[in-house]
Amino acid sequence: MTTQADARAQIGVTGLSVMGRNLARNLARNGFTVALHNRSVERTRSLMAEHGDEGDFVPSESMEEFVASLTRPRAVIVMVKAGAATDAVIEELTGLLEPGDIVIDCGNTHYTDTIRREKDLAAKGLHFVGTGVSGGEEGALNGPSIMPGGSVEAYRTLGPIFEKIAAQVDGVPCAVHVGPDGAGHFVKMVHNGIEYADMQLIAESYDLLRSGLGVSPGHIAAIFREWNRGELESFLIEITADVLSHEDRSTGKPFIDVVADRAEQKGTGRWTVQSALDLGIPITGIAEATFARSLSGHVDQRQAAQRTFEGRAGDVDPAGVVEDPKQFVEDVRNALYASKIVAYAQGFDHIQAGSEEYGWDIDRGAMATIWRGGCIIRARFLDRIRAAYEETPGLESLLVAPYFADAVAAGVESWRRVIAAAVRAGIPTPTFSSSLAYLDALRRPRLPAALIQCLRDDFGAHTYQRVDREGTFHTLWAGDMSEQRVDK
Ligand code: NDP
Repeated sequence: MTTQADARAQIGVTGLSVMGRNLARNLARNGFTVALHNRSVERTRSLMAEHGDEGDFVPSESMEEFVASLTRPRAVIVMVKAGAATDAVIEELTGLLEPGDIVIDCGNTHYTDTIRREKDLAAKGLHFVGTGVSGGEEGALNGPSIMPGGSVEAYRTLGPIFEKIAAQVDGVPCAVHVGPDGAGHFVKMVHNGIEYADMQLIAESYDLLRSGLGVSPGHIAAIFREWNRGELESFLIEITADVLSHEDRSTGKPFIDVVADRAEQKGTGRWTVQSALDLGIPITGIAEATFARSLSGHVDQRQAAQRTFEGRAGDVDPAGVVEDPKQFVEDVRNALYASKIVAYAQGFDHIQAGSEEYGWDIDRGAMATIWRGGCIIRARFLDRIRAAYEETPGLESLLVAPYFADAVAAGVESWRRVIAAAVRAGIPTPTFSSSLAYLDALRRPRLPAALIQCLRDDFGAHTYQRVDREGTFHTLWAGDMSEQRVDK
């Protein structure tokens, strides 16, 4: 039994499933004394049995012992299932903690829950630090990207710990204080949304190459490997090449061909899109990527459509749309890069909108910096994003930063060719297409939104503004068509 006199752990972890276990090991390997706890004691025991020699652990079988084993201010990482389980653990903990102690939720929590919990715990004198952690189980063990919210005071205690266990890129830790209350979980959510778009873009590229060139997954793996040597270099491109070159052990077929074509989601993509809708930010690439996963799961509808449109959808043989295979590969690469820039531009707009809405004052360049290592979307090109925000902190859109504008302009003809070919061949490219449409809409001097304003005013007297005069107006569409100035 641990008593107050034994309090010697610098940080505790409760919730020792995959993520908590690895995070605790990472902390211990970095020299911290780590208190351990899990609801069912077997996980604590197996961690001690298998990895107890990796560092200084203080295991406890009850929450009381666990809390008592921590030095003050106590810092407790909660790494349990997001939602009700997190609330239950926090409630149990708060009865045992004292003012000044810190509860750190490293789960995939919705940022509005974090805002609520931070308020509740602050009223009890406790710090609550909602922390986004990316990198999966591997990252948790070897260095994740860490996105903590909460108070500056709490970060003073936690910063040195997080910065030590995080991934390091060029000597810079992939951990930074994101902003107050829900800021960390918000940024983690958008990170996951960008991850959805990034993966969908890679998937569309694969589909185009495979159908257009008529080559094997192994051949496409080599193309991705080549791409990984240039500006597309990233963890996701690297593992795409690994996946595509893998053969199924039981059948000898390309592994990708024996995997069901229905993509799962745990919900962070959906949260990102929901939040963007609330904030009015067009994250079209992320939304299309999220919907593409939903569509893939509607198997009955897909089969019915396959039967119904067999031979009468007006599409041509994909091989017929590729005149020059070498140029096609280059076009897909350019389209992928340009679409990826759009997805990140939209994601960073979303972060800015959340920051303004909740008063978080998030530094977008710092977010690009901490995503360079440890996390799933780690990529060479994040350095460019960091540089763009460093140069112009109030940048209207990443798309207009000189480096990205030049990259998009250089690839835009390829992008149009690829989408045109995909449309003719009936290959769905929702994220490629919507990303180009986004760019074209931003560039267009006059949008058909004027017509939408007229229609809204016609059927609902919703009023409109004119291009030539100040004020708000309404036309008597069902009357004498005269125009009235309306004071709003
Ligand atoms: P799970 O999400 O599978 O959660 C299992 C853990 O939660 C176990 O320790 C379990 O305890 C505990 N738990 C569940 N319900 C309760 C409860 N009512 N009271 C107390 N403890 C409870 O574990 P993961 O390690 O996969 O993930 C942990 C968190 O990290 C989640 O929020 C997840 O979304 C997030 N995350 C996961 C990533 C990943 O790649 N897996 C990446 C980034 C974040 P018991 O052993 O007693 O059942």
